Amino acid sequence: MSISETVLITGASTGIGATYAERFAQRGHNLVLVARDKSRLDALSARLREKYSVVVDVVQADLTQTSELATVEARLREDARIGILVNNAGAAQSGSFVDQSTDSVASLVALNTTALVRLSSAIAPRLAQAGSGAIINISSVVGLAPEYGMAVYGATKAFVLFLSQGLNLELSPKGVYVQAVLPAATRTEIWERGGYDINTISEIMEVADLVDAALVGFDRREPVTIPPLQEGARWDALQAARQGLLSDIRQSAVAERYKN
Ligand code: NAP
Repeated sequence: MSISETVLITGASTGIGATYAERFAQRGHNLVLVARDKSRLDALSARLREKYSVVVDVVQADLTQTSELATVEARLREDARIGILVNNAGAAQSGSFVDQSTDSVASLVALNTTALVRLSSAIAPRLAQAGSGAIINISSVVGLAPEYGMAVYGATKAFVLFLSQGLNLELSPKGVYVQAVLPAATRTEIWERGGYDINTISEIMEVADLVDAALVGFDRREPVTIPPLQEGARWDALQAARQGLLSDIRQSAVAERYKN
């Protein structure tokens, strides 16, 4: 992967996305920063240009709006300098499913999954053709845990994990690396924006620690990086259990317990 590849980061105006922007600029990559808040993007881009002498473009887009999303898709299809996509923009929403409005859950799904899959689909054929590049998708440990009581958010993050694993299997033989990153609670604005009180969370990771760890996984070409998971062997055991379950699925035979 060449150091001169441009990195397009969604949700780069603050939090995890802004930290990725800083780190990739530090590594000498030019950037395309995407989010809704143009003044924040402009301020960040000016700082990064000044500090790291990289080229930084800003694209203002609400990724839940089809026409604005299409602008970013077109950029990913057409701009051959972009070799890395960081699908980071996302939101959470407090409350139980019955209290969340139909429009608000649909909007969460549009941002956390539809935008992510459309942007991945826009860039993947070009990267596969070039035989290089990477897609980083920000999932969440909530995607492993229906017990956390965040059904829609967790479902979107489970989708991101599954999609990333599937795409990595398909694209890595073509030279394209796909990484899923699963943070746990990390100190950003997402909590306040989603209607949560950050002070009720007992353990919270600092955003710089999260992104630095995720980049260690990136440099190792890990398909799935879970910075807060202390024992990596637990993830391997889960994957082995899943593979074992798959090997016990027989397409043609109904399992004994379902026979009257
Ligand atoms: P954040 O601080 O709230 O930042 C979210 C970013 O997404 C902002 O740059 C925001 O910018 C952008 N964004 C939100 N809605 C958008 C929209 N409709 N169109 C375009 N951009 C939009 O959150 P964060 O914690 O950094 O979250 C980044 C990712 O990490 C998310 O996918 C989140 O689910 C995931 N994650 C976070 C945590 C955590 O505890 N923080 C844990 C697990 C996973 P604008 O408002 O300027 O558009």
